[in-house]
Amino acid sequence: MADNKRDYYEVLGVQKGASDDELKKAYRAMVKKYHPDLHPDDKDAEEKMKEVNEAYDILSDKEKRARYDQFGFAGVDPSYSAGQGGGGFGGFSGGSYGGFGDIGDIFESFFGGGFGQQTRSNPNAPRKGQDIKTAVQISFMEACKGTGVDIRVNRLERCPDCGGTGARAGTSAEICPDCRGTGTVRVTQRTPLGVFQSTKSCDRCGGKGKVIKDVCPSCQGQGRVRRVLSKNVSIPQGIDDGQTLRITGEGDCGLNGGQNGDLIIRVNVRADEMFEREGFDIYSEVPISYMQAALGDEINIPTIDGSVKYRIPAGTQNGDTFHLRGQGVPRLYRSGRGDHHATVRVVVPKGLSKKQADLLKAFDDSLDDRNRPDKRKFSDWFKS
Ligand SMILES: [Zn+2]
Ligand SMILES: [Zn+2]
Repeated sequence: MADNKRDYYEVLGVQKGASDDELKKAYRAMVKKYHPDLHPDDKDAEEKMKEVNEAYDILSDKEKRARYDQFGFAGVDPSYSAGQGGGGFGGFSGGSYGGFGDIGDIFESFFGGGFGQQTRSNPNAPRKGQDIKTAVQISFMEACKGTGVDIRVNRLERCPDCGGTGARAGTSAEICPDCRGTGTVRVTQRTPLGVFQSTKSCDRCGGKGKVIKDVCPSCQGQGRVRRVLSKNVSIPQGIDDGQTLRITGEGDCGLNGGQNGDLIIRVNVRADEMFEREGFDIYSEVPISYMQAALGDEINIPTIDGSVKYRIPAGTQNGDTFHLRGQGVPRLYRSGRGDHHATVRVVVPKGLSKKQADLLKAFDDSLDDRNRPDKRKFSDWFKS
């Protein structure tokens, strides 16, 4: 890059022995010619301005100028002597704006913020409407099966009376007389360096280039009106607590033809007494009797589809879990379902009569090691 740099004197258009005054004069002329405020969005002018600043930065400094005269760019540009970003001779700010002394300060003060701020946001550019966030609460079962809910939406819509123009029906916005529709006005400023012209956003029309004389009474010229409406939203099966749905284009109306915002609905799912959910699997507990556990039985397992018959084997233990494949929650936006995991709880009978207690004791006495292996283990443990 540095290889095709132009000679600093050439950049400013002065002789090698130019006096300070001549330098200053040349610099002013170049600034007038290439200042970015006079050439918005002109990359070429911006590059030229950088080049001019760099040249003036060096040549206006006695020491740097002397080094430049003697060694050329190698005398002033750190990248020549010490590679990228190296220290070198220092003192030169690498061609960026700023750092050019008193004159720079004067520019800063009257161009307001200086260079590099040429990208004003265009007030006529299409802008997307705001997203609207809301929440709904549904039951556990509704989340599993899907449902429809009515929600209230409070949003900005295109004004039906003016069609979004903001001008009273039958009239239209007019070209702004201050800026003649350009949205910008020229500002002339006198400074010690001469007269400068710059542009700024037109105050009268806010940069839009148009003014509304006869404002639409329905929207006060905003082009949008607030409306509260009820909307039926279908909640897909498989949704889980805390998940959100995004309905594209159902938020606030966009501006200048921009697209509408979205409607974002957070779904809160109430807990269920019987079922717990993890992903698309469901967990539940099923009470069984001591006898059912010992002898096995066909039991009823409640699932989200209702009661399902399931045969548990003889010798089922408290806490054993049985898996019903594909009987959990339908997968959101996909096919297939999770599983249902049913854990049995053996219910120990309470309030036994004398006769029942005697029968139970007699039954327990009849058990041997084969029926209850842990009985032996415990007695062995006590013996040792
Ligand atoms: Zn209107
Ligand atoms: Zn204007």
